[in-house]
Amino acid sequence: MTHISHYPPVCNALEADNGALRDAILYHLQYSCGSTKKEATQGELARAVMLAVRDLLTERMLATEKRYQQHNAKRLYYLSMEFHLGRTLGNVLANLGLTTLLARTMEELGVDLEEIREQESDGALGTGGLARLAACFLDSLATLDMPGFGYGLKYQFGLFRQELVQGYQKELPGRWDTEHNPWLISRPDEVFAIPMYGRVEPSRGRNNRYAPVWQDQKFVLGIPHDMPIAGAGGKTVNTLRLFSARSADAFDIQIFTANDYFQAIRHQLFSESVSKMLYPSDVDDQSLEMRLKQEYFLVACTIQDIMKKYLKTGGEISNFAQNTAIQLNDTNPALAIAELMRCLVDEHQLDWDNSWDITRATCAYTSHTLVPEAYEKWPVQLFEKVLPRHLQIIYEINHRFLHEVRLRYPDDENAPTRMSLIEETGGRQLNMAHLAIIGSHSVNGVAGLHSQLLRDNVFPDFADMFPERFSNKTNGVTQRRWLYKANPPLANLITSAIGNEWIIRAETLSRLDEFAADSQFQKQFAETRNHNKRSLADHIMRVTGLVINPDSLFDVQIKRVHEYKRQLLHLLYIIHCYRAIIEDGEPPQVPRTHIFAGKAAPGDPAAKLIIKLINNIGQVINRDTRTRDMLKVVMLPDFGVSLAEKIIPAADLSEQISMAGTEASGTGNMKLAMNGALTIGTRDGSNIEIMEEVGADNFFTFGLDADTIEELRTENSYNAWDYYADNPLIRRAVDCLDSDMFCQEEPGLFRDIFASLMYEGDYFFHLADLESYIDTQQQVNELYTHPASWRKKAILNIARSGKFSSDRTVMEYAETIWQLKPVV
Ligand SMILES: *Cc1c(COP(=O)(O)O)cnc(C)c1O
Repeated sequence: MTHISHYPPVCNALEADNGALRDAILYHLQYSCGSTKKEATQGELARAVMLAVRDLLTERMLATEKRYQQHNAKRLYYLSMEFHLGRTLGNVLANLGLTTLLARTMEELGVDLEEIREQESDGALGTGGLARLAACFLDSLATLDMPGFGYGLKYQFGLFRQELVQGYQKELPGRWDTEHNPWLISRPDEVFAIPMYGRVEPSRGRNNRYAPVWQDQKFVLGIPHDMPIAGAGGKTVNTLRLFSARSADAFDIQIFTANDYFQAIRHQLFSESVSKMLYPSDVDDQSLEMRLKQEYFLVACTIQDIMKKYLKTGGEISNFAQNTAIQLNDTNPALAIAELMRCLVDEHQLDWDNSWDITRATCAYTSHTLVPEAYEKWPVQLFEKVLPRHLQIIYEINHRFLHEVRLRYPDDENAPTRMSLIEETGGRQLNMAHLAIIGSHSVNGVAGLHSQLLRDNVFPDFADMFPERFSNKTNGVTQRRWLYKANPPLANLITSAIGNEWIIRAETLSRLDEFAADSQFQKQFAETRNHNKRSLADHIMRVTGLVINPDSLFDVQIKRVHEYKRQLLHLLYIIHCYRAIIEDGEPPQVPRTHIFAGKAAPGDPAAKLIIKLINNIGQVINRDTRTRDMLKVVMLPDFGVSLAEKIIPAADLSEQISMAGTEASGTGNMKLAMNGALTIGTRDGSNIEIMEEVGADNFFTFGLDADTIEELRTENSYNAWDYYADNPLIRRAVDCLDSDMFCQEEPGLFRDIFASLMYEGDYFFHLADLESYIDTQQQVNELYTHPASWRKKAILNIARSGKFSSDRTVMEYAETIWQLKPVV
């Protein structure tokens, strides 16, 4: 047994040394895991390492909080139903500069740090880009020393794990351990009681003021769990606070007195289901009520928590907005507006107008999509059952708002109907996006084009009434996770050329511009790429058994699988290449490996069929000796942050080919450009800005733009058959889906895809863009045969990607929306 001389063995990360870290790890191995170095499993070792590292963060977290209190700093609360964190250990070590030290410590203990890191599973409390954005923002806020806190739910089941079984997506429970997660500090003593259901009794309070009483509620308890979030350098450690639901037996007097034990337990299960699982966006009626309760549970816990903290530090309610900013990450947390109103009016007896001013000055709203289904609506009847008092408040907000609308647009008698919070068509529904806009002082989209489309097409009435409220904040990604940590060979090369300032000031990457044509630098750059591509080839071999050519062009499309993202367009190109090889005897100019990864929503059969198609095309092509080293198609299962970190550093070509006008921003495109991949992309979302930044010469663009598509749609003049008839190559590719070329064993399997293209109007304009896409892919091949030109463009992509750091995005929010300042 190792003798542990003192505890805490490590007090300060900057003073951390081998010995202290080793002692801390051994301490936790013994006292937190109840094991010994000799007996410990890999999992126990990993846990001990994470707890030792967490100790470093805890101290700083407390110091940070103290600093904020001393400065009476304004705080930002970032409300999001989803956070896609990925793994934490590697990121913390990178941000604290402890990677080498810990690796050495582990070596002394006879353990490989890489293996320990692989033990950690991805924190996937979210589905896609929006959730990952929230995680990048937390990293940037802490790095910029800003008091910004994430607020979310501690789902027991986050995003599902994906397996591919005979090419079909199979969903399994995720592995992130929410029960015993070493990063989370649970605070059962800080419990919040959240009321729901019941009824509202009209009543009068002091001064005969209307003061309705919400009665007979059911309570669910919210328990906070804090995850420390360390910025670069580790000066500031903020928190992500996640709430889990627990039953409130003691509160529920009725069940208690009825003395019905089983009823009480049933109630417990019922309560705890509130934070049970992350719901996919496609909800059926059954889960609608649960989803509403979940969203309410998050905002109610958050508002109570914020208010409690604010009052504890001696804040006056009237100054609340000067000290507090709340950002609503998409429409799901929009209920925060009604809940804050309820809190101010009912619990703090503020008058309506004051409460409304405070609420609007506090809240700001980000819209993340153009898909109408994603703008949440609640049936009034359901809402009234779960949140009767909130419904009253929303009616009152609406009443006053529509009065303003009538004054403002006296001649437009439809304006109130269009702008109302309550939709009367198709069953009465609450429009939560309208609530979010009315109750916020700021509404923003997430890329230039997206923000413009929000103003012009989605919310034109609101943009007209409140033009000053609308703005754009183009998304970003943290270069610390996505370049510094994910791609050490490239990060080291960059630092050797321009110093390491880029790690916290991404705009300084522009200093690489002058190295782009430097043959020595290009050579070193090529070496990093070769290294990364070989690592990925090894990984692909291990996971799929497939041998790929590491010198081939790695053509990467990694993202959610969804029709609008058009994985199908990419597949049609692959089919085209395949038939050119086997039928025309035309080998491609450049050997390519097409690498896909992505999950489909469990309730999206079209997307799931695309996954099957990717796999079947791979099966046929990879087996065909005629394509040998020229063409390979790989689908890696279980896309997530950690897999993205493996693929991105090895990508040559980044596929960003959504139909123009559908991708709000995209952030995968930024990660890839920052790592030196060239993009082939449509003029959609932030692709447009990436092209502006890196230069049109260093970006492959193709396809119809959003305006043209919108025009063709409204004129109803797009006909896929025209493209099919005009171009024999398109016909040959598309016809494969009507045949059994890729589904010998399940004849007719892909006919639905053929039908969606040819008989159902090709909603996402695949055929319209295919020819332009194939031509542009030809330019890609052309360029790849000139390595020096390719590398120059790749380096210029890195050099000019500084704008896409989430540090820039967060600074823009801080200056123009939150009025948030660094606290150093
Ligand atoms: C960045 C990222 C996304 C978003 O990718 P897009 O290409 O912008 O759709 C989704 N999932 C994960 C795990 C990511 O890291």
